[in-house]
Amino acid sequence: MTQDHEKDKDKFLKERASLVEWLKSRGYIKSDTVANAVLKVPREEFVPPEYRDYTYLETPLPLPGKNATISCVHTYCIYYEALKLSPGDRFLEVGMGSGYGAALARELVGSRGRIVTVEIDEETYRFGKANLERLGYNDVITILDDGSGGYEKYAPYDKIAVTAACPEEPRRIIEQLEKPGAIIYPVGGSRYQYLMLTEVNKEGKVSSQFLTTVVYVPLRGKYGVSFYK
Ligand code: SAH
Repeated sequence: MTQDHEKDKDKFLKERASLVEWLKSRGYIKSDTVANAVLKVPREEFVPPEYRDYTYLETPLPLPGKNATISCVHTYCIYYEALKLSPGDRFLEVGMGSGYGAALARELVGSRGRIVTVEIDEETYRFGKANLERLGYNDVITILDDGSGGYEKYAPYDKIAVTAACPEEPRRIIEQLEKPGAIIYPVGGSRYQYLMLTEVNKEGKVSSQFLTTVVYVPLRGKYGVSFYK
């Protein structure tokens, strides 16, 4: 099973560039800002060594911890294009996993923005945090905690991404949005979920839309999936 990776930095760079072209051609990447962020972040550094050669295949890969996977690149593009993640945004990610999503987000919000990412599994947390630090993403705020109710300390957030499957609309997390603000989350059963975008306007009016169907690992914790605490 353990097989050290064979591809070098240049090979990964080429694979990353061709994945970006594919993501553009399929409409997952719409903006230059998201294209540049995906090109810049070396995703292979967020993948455990034994799976590293598969970094640029569009498939989720296992991470250390109880039930964590690094999601396909196109799902981050769907999330961040729909959220219009922009310079200066205060951003919360629930489900840090490898730290890859937080690194991409950091590229998009710039030095004026703030990234807070919460992970419930200690082993996954250590892995993700180490990846972020090794690559110099030292100003990403990483938290080992249950994020199923959001993370009050740094609220409000302009944008929020939940990267684990919610049993129902995550009301408590939505309440931590700034007005205006936007959140993306998968909601539904264990086999697949509906990816929803909920926006709050500056008067506080809330509207939600369905984006696509997705498959995520279950959200754990207090407001997570009941059979999976
Ligand atoms: N965004 C991640 C992938 C997410 S996998 C990446 O870029 O790699 C989903 C992650 O959510 C897993 O690591 C899982 O442990 C975590 N998770 C599940 N329930 C959680 C909760 N209540 N609070 C915080 N993290 C949670």
